[in-house]
Amino acid sequence: MKNSYQPLSTHVQYVKGVGPALADKLSKMGIYTVADLLSIVPNRYIDRRSINTISELIPGKGQSLCGQVIQSRISFMGKRRKRIYEVIVEDDTGRIALIFFYFNAKFYAKKYAIGTRLLAYGDVAPYINRLQIIHPEVDILDDTQEASSLSQITPVYPLTEGVHQKTMRKIVQNAWDNFNHNIVPIFPDSMMETYRLSDPWHCLQEIHFPSSDLDVDALEEARSLAYRTLIFDEFFFIELGLQLKKNNQIAKKGIPFSSAGSLVTDFLKTLPFELTDSQKKVISEINDDMSQPHPMNRLLQGDVGSGKTIVAIITALRAIEAGYQVAIMAPTEILAGQHYLSICELLSGVQCSCGLLTSGLKPKERDTILSDLRDNRLQLIVGTHALIQKDIDFHSLGMIIIDEQHRFGVEQRAILREKAVSTMNSAQPIWPDVLIMSATPIPRTLALTVYGDLHVSIIDQMPKGRKAIITRLYHEGQREKLYHGLQHELNAGRQAYIVYPLIEESDTMDLKNATDMCEALKKEFEPTFNVALLHGRMKSHEKDDIMGAYKGNQIHILVATSVVEVGVDVPNATVMVIEHAERFGLSQLHQLRGRVGRGVHQSYCVLMADYKRSEVAKERLEVMVESNDGFKIAEEDLRIRGPGDFLGTRQSGLPPFRLANLVRDAAILEESKIAAQELLVRDRLLNEEPHKRIKEVLISRWEGRLNYAEIS
Ligand code: ADP
Ligand code: MG
Repeated sequence: MKNSYQPLSTHVQYVKGVGPALADKLSKMGIYTVADLLSIVPNRYIDRRSINTISELIPGKGQSLCGQVIQSRISFMGKRRKRIYEVIVEDDTGRIALIFFYFNAKFYAKKYAIGTRLLAYGDVAPYINRLQIIHPEVDILDDTQEASSLSQITPVYPLTEGVHQKTMRKIVQNAWDNFNHNIVPIFPDSMMETYRLSDPWHCLQEIHFPSSDLDVDALEEARSLAYRTLIFDEFFFIELGLQLKKNNQIAKKGIPFSSAGSLVTDFLKTLPFELTDSQKKVISEINDDMSQPHPMNRLLQGDVGSGKTIVAIITALRAIEAGYQVAIMAPTEILAGQHYLSICELLSGVQCSCGLLTSGLKPKERDTILSDLRDNRLQLIVGTHALIQKDIDFHSLGMIIIDEQHRFGVEQRAILREKAVSTMNSAQPIWPDVLIMSATPIPRTLALTVYGDLHVSIIDQMPKGRKAIITRLYHEGQREKLYHGLQHELNAGRQAYIVYPLIEESDTMDLKNATDMCEALKKEFEPTFNVALLHGRMKSHEKDDIMGAYKGNQIHILVATSVVEVGVDVPNATVMVIEHAERFGLSQLHQLRGRVGRGVHQSYCVLMADYKRSEVAKERLEVMVESNDGFKIAEEDLRIRGPGDFLGTRQSGLPPFRLANLVRDAAILEESKIAAQELLVRDRLLNEEPHKRIKEVLISRWEGRLNYAEIS
């Protein structure tokens, strides 16, 4: 037993065999303390439990063998005569070659001197008329050492430059030897029992030093008890933090909106269509939230075209009739402009003042809007990021609606919210209601984590009479066919979008592509039909003019960079052509496709792709051809890209996952969510003795991403 108490928070440089230089390298992997070192998780395991005789080796599998070096030299391999180091090993049954591409000849000659006994592990492969292993893992055996003393399940750790696998194993071993007695349980026994968890000491032991009776496949697929526990642990602390945030929200003072006026009922009378059942359902969920004395924080999800805008308008009117102002924030000027136009149109039959605020406004126009907002002459303001600028003050902002929220960061939402709080003349802060809308369907597992602090409403039904969009995958050779189809739709009075991807580094190239395409289409279709170009670098009023003309059916083919991605609503457009479709993510393609199929006419989406080079790209695009279901596409996208990329770095704001996999471990996620809820019901602030440790870990995992109010 060690005499002095060495906490797991000890700097890793004090682990035997580490020191400052190695510690510096380890810091690049995020390893600073002993606890960090013991928390690294092997990428895989090598199963060295059974040692084969050389004659027993089967090509194509990872296996171990034990033998003696009979030849050791530099050699040359293949047609290119690549320089290699070759070690021939022999046992009683046969011979095998160990091949190294990277080597120090002098060192290798010494290490693999003739007569040396060794244990080698690696993928056995046939080569011409013999067997070989390329870059095996090798342990040199002392004269007296039995091979079986090394035969075990060995972890293979992730590494960083200048740190070898063997060094890593050694220092993990040293850290374990000196510090393992300080590993303390996190969860109380009752929880461990209910959720089938192992204690941290056993978990770490199993992960780093698996006992030889374990199933290696289970370890690698993270199905063993230790892995289950670590994954649960990871999810649990995320869920717990999110749940606390949610509770904290409930503790805040909000506005209990009363439905006093007749604005909503008047508006509903003017609607040319009947709301879908799904729309009615989410509106009643929002109504319930709005009448609560604490602020609403709700995410409204609905596939493109499902009719979220109407829901937003009804929500806004309800707040307005209760005497508050409403801000609707959209990510692009085009989208904000579109919203403004369609909202003005829809609201023409009711009493409500509405304005648009974007950075494209002239100073004078902007000043008017600003003073109108301050003096309550404007009840509804639609805008872009321009809404969160410093000098913008509201009179009584009570409702914030954010469209296409994946384009905004958490902080931007927070700024607008703060603005609202400051407008209420009250000693205690009063928080506005917030409705966030997203057309990117988020797979359930992701919604549970990333949006775990929000309540979620889903519109899962399309307005009546919509026809499924027909999607086709074309290659360049089929362009004639594309033009043919286009002509047909234009003759029938319909309109088309042609979209180019916008890749930041080669912005100008893409613009050129789009411009060239526009010229080519003009030659083909003008003067019978009008073709125009829309891109992100145009001035706002130019964009507005073009969008206006397209909406008014004066432009028939709109060639655009991906600026049309979000929210544009032109029901007469029935053709969406996406050039270089292979460069877009699936969710983005689905968004783009959602620009058509918004009216009563049959719509088409053509993906022009160069997939000859990549089967994967083709497979991905075929998902689009097969499915019109945003949720299915999102699941697929998540599977292909992984959650980090799926969300983009901007807004996740969550601790990254080390081990958990949102797709594979969905069931564990659900359990951890329940566990977090149960715990907080029993001990709201985690102040009871058995939960002290949980609270400590929670605070360290969230590293300042939880507010003080949420945990004290
Ligand atoms: P998104 O959910 O993509 O924002 P929108 O709100 O833009 O969808 O709605 C798409 C189109 O469907 C709009 O033209 C809108 O007027 C129309 N719409 C919305 N709700 C209904 C409904 N219940 N019945 C018929 N058309 C509807
Ligand atoms: Mg929309």
